[in-house]
Amino acid sequence: MNDIKVLVTGAGGFIGHHLVKYLKDKGYWVRGVDIKNPEFQATAADDFQLLDLREFDNCMKACEGMDEVYQLAADMGGIGYITASHAAILRNNALINLHMLEAARINKVSNYLYTSSACIYPQYLQKSADVKPLKEEDAYPADAEPGYGWEKLFAELACKYYLEDYKFRNHCVRFHNIFGPLGTYEGGREKSPAAICRKIALANDEDEIEVWGDGLQTRSYCYIDDCVEGIYRLMQSDHTEPLNLGQDRLISVNELVNIVAKVAGKKITRRHDLTKPQGVRGRNSDNTKLREVLKWEPIVSLEDGLAKTYEWISEQVSVVKS
Ligand code: NAD
Repeated sequence: MNDIKVLVTGAGGFIGHHLVKYLKDKGYWVRGVDIKNPEFQATAADDFQLLDLREFDNCMKACEGMDEVYQLAADMGGIGYITASHAAILRNNALINLHMLEAARINKVSNYLYTSSACIYPQYLQKSADVKPLKEEDAYPADAEPGYGWEKLFAELACKYYLEDYKFRNHCVRFHNIFGPLGTYEGGREKSPAAICRKIALANDEDEIEVWGDGLQTRSYCYIDDCVEGIYRLMQSDHTEPLNLGQDRLISVNELVNIVAKVAGKKITRRHDLTKPQGVRGRNSDNTKLREVLKWEPIVSLEDGLAKTYEWISEQVSVVKS
């Protein structure tokens, strides 16, 4: 065990849960904080506190005695959720992010990570399926995803100003579609890999599943183990500008369905619902800077990551079905 005390906010959520385990394995003392308990598995944290981080006093409590903070708490979900809830997401996340930064600064936290998103990138650069990979400097002139994306960009700026004005050391990571076991897979907040795994797990061989949009929209997807490794490496680095963290293999949602169907060993046909939100037409990560800064890049293949994710989701839905 080393002497460094670390706070992970959003520790009851998907990435936070995995990150707590990763940091514990590295020998840190870890405090987890969330507004809810972890849904699927007990936390590995030494101390877990249920706190609403929209309240400044709760952020002060969370940061007390902490050396480092990984700020992952956010009101978030897949495209269905973030399209339907602009006002609530903007308010909740702005309160969490401003209060967490200030509470960490007052508590003399020496290293801080903010989790931003590819949703900050301008919509005008993401209008075609064969989109050019997005570089960090493409963020401006800004035209972020409504609600969720604008708040993320605003919080990135808050981090930059805290560094400039208070010398408050921090890092901003821009995730590109992280997926894996223990992520939300039902209820409206799930993202496309989890939703497709659930639909195929519930389907019989030769069934049809619903796909949002025409399925030609493209994305890149990054497995959770690579995500936590990348986060950790960024925290150890001196890089304080926002950095992409994702895979750079661009595939369509239809191809994603085909890979999951193959993993599941089922023949699946698609029924496209064109009334459902599909987000930007194409989005990919340019990993040039990631490789340069971290001397590393995500290594888990989409096929291997989806096999593990499908296995976990099909276990969950079979427990519910039986
Ligand atoms: P998640 O929804 O599983 O986890 C977020 C956690 O924050 C949840 O457990 C939630 O209960 C908690 N939270 C929400 N409001 C809170 C509050 N008021 N007080 C305390 N806790 C609160 O999401 P995730 O996928 O683990 O995402 C973690 C971070 O990464 C978030 O900042 C998210 O915006 C960002 N991100 C994730 C992805 C992705 O693909 N998963 C992509 C881009 C950015």
